[in-house]
Amino acid sequence: MKCPVCGAVYRPTKQSTGAGETFPSPTCRRCKADLSDLLRLHDQAIWYHRQALHLCSQGRYAQAAAQNNAALALYSSNADFHALAGKLSALQGEFREAIASWQQALKFDPQNAVAGDCLQMIKMLTS
Ligand SMILES: [Zn+2]
Repeated sequence: MKCPVCGAVYRPTKQSTGAGETFPSPTCRRCKADLSDLLRLHDQAIWYHRQALHLCSQGRYAQAAAQNNAALALYSSNADFHALAGKLSALQGEFREAIASWQQALKFDPQNAVAGDCLQMIKMLTS
């Protein structure tokens, strides 16, 4: 994820408490903005996304899509969320929506393997 203030990619950096313990610092390494609220939202979104993956593996696609949409509502610039949304649409026969989701995924992460492979497959099937 990116810092909304300066656009730097956030990576958790270990911060020493002085008591021999370390904890991930919720501040941007470039501009020092406090990102703790954002990280909480991001964690929540990841949690929804994991629920969605779990439901998907059980074949409960509609419920998985609902969980994944909750993740997207909290954090819409994660390529993996869009890639899964595309997969779930395709599994439910909604190919137009699937393609739109995969294109979104590639917009946020041009290297996203799931979205790239699936789009290529669709192109082969439809050409
Ligand atoms: Zn920043």
